[in-house]
Amino acid sequence: MKSVRTVQGLRAVLGGARRDDRAIGLVATMGALHEGHLSLIRHARRQCDVVVVSLFVNPAQFNERADLERYPRDELRDSELAEDAGADVLFAPSVAEVYPAGFATTVEVLGLSERLEGAARGAEHFRGVATIVTKLLCMALPDVAYFGQKDAQQVLLIRRLTTDLNLPVRIETRPTVREPDGLAMSSRNALLGAAERERALALPRALQAACELADSGERSTAALLAAARAEMERLSVSAEYLALVDPETLEPLERLDGEALLAVAARVGEVRLIDNTILTPDVGSAPDPQNQGKVLSTCSV
Ligand code: AMP
Repeated sequence: MKSVRTVQGLRAVLGGARRDDRAIGLVATMGALHEGHLSLIRHARRQCDVVVVSLFVNPAQFNERADLERYPRDELRDSELAEDAGADVLFAPSVAEVYPAGFATTVEVLGLSERLEGAARGAEHFRGVATIVTKLLCMALPDVAYFGQKDAQQVLLIRRLTTDLNLPVRIETRPTVREPDGLAMSSRNALLGAAERERALALPRALQAACELADSGERSTAALLAAARAEMERLSVSAEYLALVDPETLEPLERLDGEALLAVAARVGEVRLIDNTILTPDVGSAPDPQNQGKVLSTCSV
């Protein structure tokens, strides 16, 4: 695996692949790699000739200074994990390389950015995300870029901006990877103390509770969210937001009449966590071909 720190270096290592028309895949990360990231890298490895992993803790998307300062960083470990998972190139630029003096351009995806995470964290969060992802796509010019469903709103924004800006890249979304007890993997999980780690299960359990109720036929959003909230209260965690929304527009839904995104954010101690799942009530009544007789669940958490 080659490690590069500059855009010029990145272009140089990718030049041959581009000339030979070999497929380039990009996995953009902020480091502190875990199985969620590694699943994206392994998938890129299966699909592409050259796999680029970027590692950049983007200050522009942090709305809290303390969150940026305590964000876990371990480049040596990350580079070993990325290589083992199949990365060919690790791109780890400095802040000055990404935002040189005079930097003045931002990308903003209106509408989608203002909901859920945008409402909770402020406009600068998704402005920071949209700008860095656009820059990384322009720097690496990948054929495919891989993102996790864990950050569902982020993927929607990225799809929107690549369409709107005519960026020649295919965006692929991969499922959320979870710990055996259901907690969605996140770099921030490393910051949880033992008691907080237990309480963090409030998020997946809330999603699971709503799913089970939906499985039993409940279609009222108020009832589904109440069940989820009750589950969180059992672990003394209160949601920053808990919402059932249209999975494309993120508009709130009053009823679960089709596919819906159930999204949650909560602070456990100092650590802010997010999670989500897609509810698909239409398959709720269909028999599962792999599991004769059993009814498919509306979601998987
Ligand atoms: P981050 O380093 O948090 O910016 O995440 C980098 C990429 O990994 C993003 O596309 C995330 O959505 C994805 N990712 C983070 N956590 C998970 C997870 N638990 N499962 C799948 N993908 C993830």
